Amino acid sequence: MSQEVCRFAPTPSGPAHPGTLLAALLAWLDARSRGARFLLRMEDIDHTRCTQEAAAEMKAALRWLGLDWDGESVQSQRRNDHEAALDRLAQEGALYPCGCTRSEIRRAGTRAADGGWRYPGCCRTRTLPEAGWRRAGGALRLRLEPGRVEVSDEGGLELGQEPLAELGDPVVLRADGAIAYHLAVVVDDAKDGVTRVVRGRDLASATALHGVLQQRLGVATPS
Ligand code: GLU
Repeated sequence: MSQEVCRFAPTPSGPAHPGTLLAALLAWLDARSRGARFLLRMEDIDHTRCTQEAAAEMKAALRWLGLDWDGESVQSQRRNDHEAALDRLAQEGALYPCGCTRSEIRRAGTRAADGGWRYPGCCRTRTLPEAGWRRAGGALRLRLEPGRVEVSDEGGLELGQEPLAELGDPVVLRADGAIAYHLAVVVDDAKDGVTRVVRGRDLASATALHGVLQQRLGVATPS
């Protein structure tokens, strides 16, 4: 059997807090206890929040805790891979431009499974310009199909969800040009060959959506 690959993927937007270190420790223990490769990925694509100093501090904090890793990557250096995924989704007709503001979305008044507001789908019928998604200007969303997605969690957490009903179509490219977390994390896990994900419960409500993106991009869903 080929070797399993685990990862820790912090967002370097400030000092490592106890929850971050706990998640790192659990991911590391999971990897080391099964002889898996353990990778560190700095998820720094949000240029409004992330800094190189915070990335350096994060690594120092992980080392302080006694953790080590077998490989390292930086999400902001993967732009070509993220754009290739957008190309694929655009070719399938799955993307549309969205100009809705946060207050418009909030006004629709439905809470989303992740604690934010469900996107009500106002721009759903819009199409990309003939010249392609790069010319759309503004945010792009992924048009989801209705239906339930089951994802298993070894800890027994219920991760099954109806992403369209519970979250609404997600942003995959932000209005400021940054790739959205959900797309980047799926592309990068596939690129890194990640086979197991251990992470904070705060991301439980995003797991089904990641499953949808993995299917749409033709990559495997990690355990
Ligand atoms: N970068 C994300 C965060 O710090 C975690 C990504 C993940 O584990 O999927 O919240």
